[in-house]
Amino acid sequence: MTTSFGQSTVLGYPRIGAHRELKKAVEAYWAGKLDATGLHETAAELRAQVWRTLRDACLDAIPSNTFSYYDQMLDTAVALGAVPHRFARLGLDDLDTYFAMARGVDTEPALELTKWFDTNYHYLVPEIDPDTSFTARPAKALSEYAEARALGITTRPVLIGPATFLLLAKGADPFARLDDLVDTYAGILTALAGAGVPWVQLDEPAYVADRTPAEIDGLHRAYQRLGDLPNRPRIFVATYFGDLADALPALLDTPVDAVGVDLVAGPGNLERLAGAGPLGGKTIVAGLVDGRNIWRTDLRAAVAAGATVAALADHVAVSTSCSLLHVPVDVTAETRLDPRLSERLAFARQKLDEVVLLGRALRDGTTAVPAPLPATPASWRHDEIRGRLAALRPDDRSRGAYPDRATRQRQRLGLPALPTTTIGSFPQTPELRAARAAHRAGTLDDAGYTARMRAEVAHVIRLQEDLGLDVLVHGEPERNDMVQYFGEQLDGFAATDHGWVQSYGTRCVRPPIIHGDVARPEPMTVAWSTYAQSLTSKPVKGMLTGPVTILAWSFVRDDQPLADTADQVALALRDECRDLEAAGIRVIQVDEPALRETLPLRRSQQQTYLDWAVGAFRLATSGVADDTQIHTHLCYSEFGEVIAAIDALDADVTSIEASRSKMEILDDLAIIGYHRGIGPGVWDIHSPRVPPHDEVVDALRRAVAAVPAHRLWVNPDCGLKTRGYPEVEASLRHLVAAAAAVRQG
Ligand code: GLN
Ligand code: ZN
Repeated sequence: MTTSFGQSTVLGYPRIGAHRELKKAVEAYWAGKLDATGLHETAAELRAQVWRTLRDACLDAIPSNTFSYYDQMLDTAVALGAVPHRFARLGLDDLDTYFAMARGVDTEPALELTKWFDTNYHYLVPEIDPDTSFTARPAKALSEYAEARALGITTRPVLIGPATFLLLAKGADPFARLDDLVDTYAGILTALAGAGVPWVQLDEPAYVADRTPAEIDGLHRAYQRLGDLPNRPRIFVATYFGDLADALPALLDTPVDAVGVDLVAGPGNLERLAGAGPLGGKTIVAGLVDGRNIWRTDLRAAVAAGATVAALADHVAVSTSCSLLHVPVDVTAETRLDPRLSERLAFARQKLDEVVLLGRALRDGTTAVPAPLPATPASWRHDEIRGRLAALRPDDRSRGAYPDRATRQRQRLGLPALPTTTIGSFPQTPELRAARAAHRAGTLDDAGYTARMRAEVAHVIRLQEDLGLDVLVHGEPERNDMVQYFGEQLDGFAATDHGWVQSYGTRCVRPPIIHGDVARPEPMTVAWSTYAQSLTSKPVKGMLTGPVTILAWSFVRDDQPLADTADQVALALRDECRDLEAAGIRVIQVDEPALRETLPLRRSQQQTYLDWAVGAFRLATSGVADDTQIHTHLCYSEFGEVIAAIDALDADVTSIEASRSKMEILDDLAIIGYHRGIGPGVWDIHSPRVPPHDEVVDALRRAVAAVPAHRLWVNPDCGLKTRGYPEVEASLRHLVAAAAAVRQG
């Protein structure tokens, strides 16, 4: 059996299937329509497909154990025997215990779900306490290895590494358990060696973020120990999403056999390697093909970078910068894309060819690789937009003084203290989804579709008037997704038919592709908002998605700075805001739920990001008059690191997820002197539970203690699109009544 690493590999591959087969099978299992055997069969078939695809692409180092029914962190927790007691005691079988951890059961909430580094993938947060016992359970890794062997394919099992596993876990000081945990990893490695596994991959991406010396020391200790095991597979430590900085020399100083570095998101890794001294026979796995974005690799630049690594190390292999989990499966499935665009794209399948080609070029020492594509088509350029951007002045990103704005808005809107509102979407019922699907398929014509959506808007307005809400929304029935909807209407964007990417569990998204200059051919939301406003005398909020979130949830061109693309999107939104205002809309909400998500992992890079992110938001929202009220909305994260940026957005009102964190956000905002309107969520919309009236009153009383009533808004944590009407009506009734009760003091 060969012990060399090989020439070309990927760190992981999409596991949901080219047609989301895994999603469908898992959901059928949950619904009781497919039994466990059927589910296992589909899963085995999908794994076999992936391994054959990788082999047929001529990759010579193939990962396994990258399959997951839900999430790789959850799989790793199970492999370490770290199933929290609250799930173990349910007495379910292994599969259902696993899904209980992922989704919760009636009596037990799921593990927390949170963003995987700066991606839109979400992992389940392991719960590790001082008394969590670890046990090596290598069954999944072993059986996947054996399955692939049965197909004649030798693979490299992948696990999250011990240090990253603990750094991403929650509990009382999980990292203090590192030495215990490393013993358990030793057990897993020994078992793998016993099965003849030649290589194992342990992922340590947590070290591309700022880490303390103690944490770096822990990494060193862990791999010293694992490397010293007498009977083990060769160890490949993979890192991704950025620069390792001081963690790189620490890792190179251990007896592991291969170290992977991301040379796309972490170009600084190259210098660190150069400065590291002799690499002691280690294989360096160079992540040269972008695993996060969908553009074809500049092969010449990649070969040059690879050659630099080759000059430093005895052995170099070529890889993707991270797992291909983050990109769609195959661009050849996209038959409706402009061919001038598709020829520039590489999805997962196409990236395999790039990796193999680069691996061969490095092995043969050749630089003869295909030339880059010619310049992008002239029609993707908008000179008018470029001219407007070039002419921008600082003034274009600022509004009048807030106290003045507040006075004018108060006079114009005439709202009570503690005004009540929602975040935008109302339930997306099966009927609504069916109507949108029929319209897309051409079986419902434009007029029929518009009539159906207007009926929904009218229903939502009537409901809100009946409930007594103060600032109404149109309910967003026409939106499939808060980014896709705008992508479909803006120039410079393209949509895919099959470009699905796993977001979490069985949830997949289809991010649009921003390939050219962004421009707005015509208003995007004005007709819906003005129709809604025509049905009521109460103010209706116009509803837009902000530039940072649009970029975060798209695949973005990489031939110009993100800041420039953000400003182009912002200009389109600025025009939309003005059109909404001219059409009589008095309140406009620009959502930025992804503001925190794309914050760079290294503190040293965060301010630059926040500057352009805030700048783009302000460009989008500062074109309106002072008496037009701008709202923003944030959710899905801890906001500690971006509190100052939230203030800098200069929105008149910020609604923010807060109910689960018990309003702590209000103290954080008070500390930095935030002094504008704030709507801390008082209803956790992530579950169907209806918050009792008294609970909302309590939350509001806590809020009133932290924020003067004249600045406080009353709203749920987020939009209501995933909820059903019964709980929405009941909860909003409690919310409105609670606001009335607290107004009375
Ligand atoms: N306006 C959007 C909605 O209500 C906001 C969604 C979000 O924050 N993710 O659905
Ligand atoms: Zn939200």
